Amino acid sequence: MHNISVYAASPACSRGRRVHEDAPPGRSEFQRDRDRIIHSSAFRRLEYKTQVFVNHEGDLFRTRLTHSIEVAQIARSIARRLKLNEDLVEGISLAHDLGHTPFGHAGQDALNDCMKDYGGFEHNLQSLRVVDVLEERYANFDGLNLCFETREGILKHCAKEKALQLGDVGERFLNNQRPSLEAQIANLADEVAYNNHDVDDGLRSGLITLDQLASVRLFSAHLDEVRKSYPELAERRVVHETIRRMINTLVTDVISQSEKNISEQTLRDISDVRNAPTLIAFSPHMQELNRELKTFLRDNLYRHYLVMRMSAKARRIISELFQAFMGDHRLLPPQFLHAAEQSHARAVADYVAGMTDRYAIREHRRLFAVEEI
Ligand code: MG
Repeated sequence: MHNISVYAASPACSRGRRVHEDAPPGRSEFQRDRDRIIHSSAFRRLEYKTQVFVNHEGDLFRTRLTHSIEVAQIARSIARRLKLNEDLVEGISLAHDLGHTPFGHAGQDALNDCMKDYGGFEHNLQSLRVVDVLEERYANFDGLNLCFETREGILKHCAKEKALQLGDVGERFLNNQRPSLEAQIANLADEVAYNNHDVDDGLRSGLITLDQLASVRLFSAHLDEVRKSYPELAERRVVHETIRRMINTLVTDVISQSEKNISEQTLRDISDVRNAPTLIAFSPHMQELNRELKTFLRDNLYRHYLVMRMSAKARRIISELFQAFMGDHRLLPPQFLHAAEQSHARAVADYVAGMTDRYAIREHRRLFAVEEI
């Protein structure tokens, strides 16, 4: 990697892996992390997990896999312009949703409710648990044994009482420090990606309309421009052309505002980054426009009655699965039964969280429909 800033994360200054491994020949430590994430089974399961639309609702909607790839693309573009470590942002971006339950936030909320007497469930902590514990692939360690910097980026947020139990990656939540700029980029790229692809998927599904979006300044300004420049353009192309301009506007704004924020600090290395305020950010004006877009999506898409119906079904599936496995541990597949010896509830949560949308639906049918085996 050429031309990288002194305050970028670098494998040479890494706080290392939990289990020591010799440096990989021919690739950097952060590349190795990225490669391990891609080869993990949790990563492949992202293909059949969704955030807003359930998998069987259509083949063109984003899944968590395509979402994560879009996050990585946006994050790498920003990292390259800011001369930061692209391999690290890519690894964090690809791993950031590994711990998500089936059925998006409805699934996470339901599982959290089920787990309230057993330490709760939080997808972000679960992503870390996947890479630290749950992946069973390597001879010498559980999990993927990723570098500290990748794990730190995966753990976006964390309550103080949880942070106390997490060792090194929990420290910054107790010491009021920031993660690397690479982690900050992945975090913001996540938001840029989902706000924009949810507009796209929302329009494609017909749950929101272009007329409704006229109230969103960030969207309507670009829409007007596109329509003026290309009056004959077919609607799908108008939508895509508008969204691509929105993404570009947001990304360009993050780059220029972050450059400004960085230039106002004296950053000699990554430890100065950790002690500085959050530096990867939108300008105040863009932040306001972005908030308007988010509010629109919440009110019109995430709370659309058809989405609410699917969410209600999802919550029922997750809580009934949880209760069935909690009620009788012998219903668990043998490999989870073994894990249940330590904490029955946590083993059930790991099993349920790891399910894809369609697997959860099938497993629910297998447990509750008498005609299924
Ligand atoms: Mg995400």
